[in-house]
Amino acid sequence: MAETMIPKATAKRLPLYYRYLNFLANSGTTKISSTELSEAVKVDSATIRRDFSYFGALGKRGYGYDVMDLLKFFKKILNQDRLTNVALVGVGNLGHALLNYNFRQANNIRISAGFDVNPDLAGTIQSGVPIYPMTDLIDQLRQQQIEIVILTVPTDAAQGITDDLVKAGIKGIMNFTPLRISVPAYVRVQNVDLATELQTLIYFLDHYGPTLKDT
Ligand code: ATP
Repeated sequence: MAETMIPKATAKRLPLYYRYLNFLANSGTTKISSTELSEAVKVDSATIRRDFSYFGALGKRGYGYDVMDLLKFFKKILNQDRLTNVALVGVGNLGHALLNYNFRQANNIRISAGFDVNPDLAGTIQSGVPIYPMTDLIDQLRQQQIEIVILTVPTDAAQGITDDLVKAGIKGIMNFTPLRISVPAYVRVQNVDLATELQTLIYFLDHYGPTLKDT
């Protein structure tokens, strides 16, 4: 990889910047100062300047940043100029919601295949996405050269499926199950536990009230 390694915290903020820059570009704004950007995305301006400096995008003093320049830049870094095909395993309630979610609108991501053990689902098209039986999982992922999978299966099925995903050459898993799945070091897992997130929110509200700024 020729790209410079950027800190994880910076990488996490990139989609946030990207989304806002897109919004600015759509509304015809051509330049923005780090202070204005800071207020909009709720990240302090020193952090923004440092984040941007990793890419050599340095704002001009008294002018700020050129929106289109930045946007071009982020598009490239975030791979927004190419379409990424993603598969979804487990077409239950959450899986359906994700199939219906328009990832492509803000980011060039498309769920191009779904998989489910339920014979009533396999072989059908759900929200425009073909659903395959689990017996086709490894073959289809390889054939379609899919490298990223969203996992929305019951917890007890998660590890077994993960092992098959690894066999199929998957590089990243977005794990919506509460199980901390085991994967080899070269596979990245992003855990999204909606129940825990909501619990955390409730905990913070109960203990600190609604106005705490803790980030
Ligand atoms: P959720 O909201 O979590 O999707 P749900 O009640 O809709 O919940 P779950 O029991 O969590 O359904 O299962 C999610 C989906 O995963 C279902 O469509 C189910 O058929 C599918 N599924 C269950 N076991 C497996 C498995 N071993 N492999 C693939 N898919 C599975």
